[in-house]
Amino acid sequence: MTEKCLFCRIVAGEIPAEIVYQDKELIAFKDINPQAPKHLIIIPKKHIASLAELTEDQQGLMGRLIILATKLAQKEGVAENGYRLTVNCGVEGGQVVPHLHFHLIGGRRLSGRLG
Ligand code: AMP
Ligand code: ZN
Repeated sequence: MTEKCLFCRIVAGEIPAEIVYQDKELIAFKDINPQAPKHLIIIPKKHIASLAELTEDQQGLMGRLIILATKLAQKEGVAENGYRLTVNCGVEGGQVVPHLHFHLIGGRRLSGRLG
């Protein structure tokens, strides 16, 4: 937990969020400013600042997060038509919240543009 980190504060229950899933190491909640009909944020509970901070011993954690994303896509009803799972990394990657997070976005035909 990093005290001033927004997503750590959601994990700690200090800031409300619409949590759709959580277990010991992962949590998923609705994005406060959804870019599509379905927009979830999926994060490791442990504070990892960005993709750039990942270490070899976090391979399992990242694998479980991606498998969770596929299950949530099914639960949200977007798996059949398709969806996007993205991570912004660093300033030029468009990352605003410095706690590693995956965006699961779907429910409409998304633009082909990624940047
Ligand atoms: P990024 O630009 O990749 O860092 O994405 C940050 C995301 O966090 C944006 O899509 C925001 O809408 C979302 N966000 C910011 N504050 C909150 C919050 N309190 N609860 C849920 N999502 C949030
Ligand atoms: Zn954090």
